[in-house]
Amino acid sequence: MAGVLTLVGTPIGNLSDFSPRAVEALETCDFIAAEDTRVTMKLLTHFGIKKPLVSYHEHNKRASGEALCDRLEAGENGVLVSDAGMPAISDPGEDLVALCYERGITVTAVPGPTAMATALALSGLPVGRFTFEGFLSTANRSRREHLESIKNERRTMVFYEAPHKLIYTLEDLLNTLGDRRLALARELTKLHEEVRRTTLTEAVAWYRENPPRGEFVLVVEGAPEAAERQVSAEEAVALARRYVAEGMSASEAAKRAAAESGRRKGEIYKQLTAEE
Ligand code: SAM
Repeated sequence: MAGVLTLVGTPIGNLSDFSPRAVEALETCDFIAAEDTRVTMKLLTHFGIKKPLVSYHEHNKRASGEALCDRLEAGENGVLVSDAGMPAISDPGEDLVALCYERGITVTAVPGPTAMATALALSGLPVGRFTFEGFLSTANRSRREHLESIKNERRTMVFYEAPHKLIYTLEDLLNTLGDRRLALARELTKLHEEVRRTTLTEAVAWYRENPPRGEFVLVVEGAPEAAERQVSAEEAVALARRYVAEGMSASEAAKRAAAESGRRKGEIYKQLTAEE
């Protein structure tokens, strides 16, 4: 019988966030595929777990993925962890999950912390609908395309960023989206956790003076609703007049013009009949 791949979420800064079920998954699997085996070794040591580690990262994911699937197909049970958070969320792992499905291998998860959901929940911005944008590319063209594509996004947007690139990302967001509210969630679950609720303009000014340190998630407010153009009373009456000219009764024309302009039927009808 083929084995199962279990995605295990790991702490994003506080080892106490590692769940008993996550510990059990690591203890009972046959092997652990890890993004950086040194990072995962620290976690295993802390919890007194001894398991063979296999490296699975961005640069070996094709070959390593096939080899891992061979082992799962042969009946071993594997766990996939990343350096922190949920594997496959802006982490290698997405491709391994897809490959497993392609090869008919069952994938399950022991969910754990993820920086995006934690930041979103703490942001104080609307969270009913949101988009996860991950990291902006550093390649000029795809970065520009990404920024252009979110210009009119109405939903709250979540970005990941490394501290040394934060100021460029804030500036590009400000230049593309205009000023918006945002929450900068830093060092979540760690000693220096901070959620700075501010605007893009203020954040750019602040981080130009105060170089950012630590890990950041940016939660940015969506585009404001375009102010609906108000149809004037004169425009609505002119519309009704056209319908009368086309053969409608004054009452029908006023009704239709009201529905199309958002103005009151009585108001249009009164003006229209006063002209007769
Ligand atoms: N898989 C991870 C998850 O589920 O959140 C994300 C991995 S991604 C390679 C790393 C990025 O996540 C960091 O650059 C930062 O934007 C964000 N991040 C991870 N831990 C964080 C923390 N404790 N506080 C704030 N942001 C964090």
